[in-house]
Amino acid sequence: MPAKVVTVTSPTLTFGQRIYFPGILAGLAQTLGHFLKNLLSLTKTLPTIQYPEMRRNYSDRYRGRHILKTRHDGTLKCVACYMCATACPADCIHIVAGEHPNLAYEKYPTTFEIDLLRCVMCGFCVDACPKDAIWMTRDYEMSYFSRKDAIYGIPELTEKPSDTAADGPGYGYRPYYGESPARKAGEFEPSGLAVLPVMLARNAAINRMPPPPKPAAPPAAKPAA
Ligand code: SF4
Ligand code: SF4
Repeated sequence: MPAKVVTVTSPTLTFGQRIYFPGILAGLAQTLGHFLKNLLSLTKTLPTIQYPEMRRNYSDRYRGRHILKTRHDGTLKCVACYMCATACPADCIHIVAGEHPNLAYEKYPTTFEIDLLRCVMCGFCVDACPKDAIWMTRDYEMSYFSRKDAIYGIPELTEKPSDTAADGPGYGYRPYYGESPARKAGEFEPSGLAVLPVMLARNAAINRMPPPPKPAAPPAAKPAA
């Protein structure tokens, strides 16, 4: 079967259209319009955020830089259980555990480092923590001059007042939002401090217990006849 031939007649362009004149004029008019709008301080109507003077207010669940929470006495809530490091899919948490001088806390991290260049900001570490010790903030300004700078240790990770200041990043992803339900209900926070008196009383009771009786001596063997 012979192919069907379709004849297309191209429109006849004017001289102005052939040298793109109307398009250039329209583009210039658009640019001039934006220029005048900015010049007359009408930027509030524009969707552009004037960073860094202006910042976007991210959600309370934003997963930014981590912080390590502290107890009322200023010590880290972290008990170096390695749950966060085990749950981390990027293998970017490095912890070294030490024995805490306070019996109630048992362990604490002598080293706690997060390599933020490896971190994928998944929040699994926050979910895995049984002590509510690691939260995330809404801080997304993470830029470094060297790889070493991107490894945050305890001094960088410990929560600071500026984290929650009016112009600070504020809290991001965390186990609960607002006041802790346990604290609201008047119950103790998951901190060893609350169980310290119980543990001291238990230790005292153990020390008061009399030593266990010595096992009876085995009967003497009968002399051979
Ligand atoms: S946010 Fe995810 S990748 Fe980053 S340290 Fe936590 S578990 Fe690891
Ligand atoms: S899971 Fe929590 S308590 Fe355990 S090591 Fe990580 S931050 Fe510390």
